[in-house]
Amino acid sequence: MRSTKRIALASILVMASSILISAEGHVVILDYHTFLGNSKSNLDYSEKELGDELDEIAAMGFKFVSLDDAIAGRISGDENIVVTIDDGNHTIYQAFKDVFEPRGIKPYLFIYPAIVRGHVRYALTPERIMLLSESGCGIGAHGYHHNPVTDKAWVKDPKDFMTEINKPGPALAAITGQAPTMFAYPFGVYSKRAEDAIASAGYAWGFAADDKVTPVDFSDTSLDRMAVPRTITYRYLRKSLLAELARIAEAGSPPSFELPVPAPAYGPEAPAANSQAASIGSEAAPSKVATP
Ligand SMILES: [Zn+2]
Repeated sequence: MRSTKRIALASILVMASSILISAEGHVVILDYHTFLGNSKSNLDYSEKELGDELDEIAAMGFKFVSLDDAIAGRISGDENIVVTIDDGNHTIYQAFKDVFEPRGIKPYLFIYPAIVRGHVRYALTPERIMLLSESGCGIGAHGYHHNPVTDKAWVKDPKDFMTEINKPGPALAAITGQAPTMFAYPFGVYSKRAEDAIASAGYAWGFAADDKVTPVDFSDTSLDRMAVPRTITYRYLRKSLLAELARIAEAGSPPSFELPVPAPAYGPEAPAANSQAASIGSEAAPSKVATP
């Protein structure tokens, strides 16, 4: 009798621990662009606006985590933010020094190397990319010339399409010494063909982007690894972004050590996880919304 009870208890604990391992937490991946502070672009932030926004997010209870930690499951709860920055604008370097680094935030940078190699005035230099990499920023690919990798782009010119996929990896490796493993689609838009192409090129993860706040659970086996959603931060939409994040924070983190009902795997979080899956599905087709 006693041993039966012990076996039953052991199997409950094993079940509970596997549930806790599978529910590693959610993360909202933000996608910033430039920090000029004098631009009319909706994608541009001043360093002051950026710092204020990050501080407000932290005050809600969110923790800033690295993309690598989020993917590896070294997070818990629902109040996690990963910062990514697209394109490779020169202002990223100073914003890192003034705003991100003092707050302990290590953004992941998605860079299209054509502007770096061409020493374009508004681009980061190879030396600064290296310094950012050494400071803990991840470096990923964002196309080569920043051309779309949609079905329309393929029909127009398959060679150009493949250049966007195949050329940034070696170009970034020549700068940092490491081949990138993450790919963010130019304009945030993608196609099934692009997903297959980046997987063939050796990328482990692909990232889309739109204006929706979509929390991601990297341990969710139904997550499309080649089209992980990110949220583009629009300067004029800061209030609605903060309101969305406040809603997530108010919903609270899942209980970290309560024995949950064995099935379904996501218990109390099921409705949110399901609605996110539906939202990812609906974004599968390339959107016409263009973003840099
Ligand atoms: Zn871009």
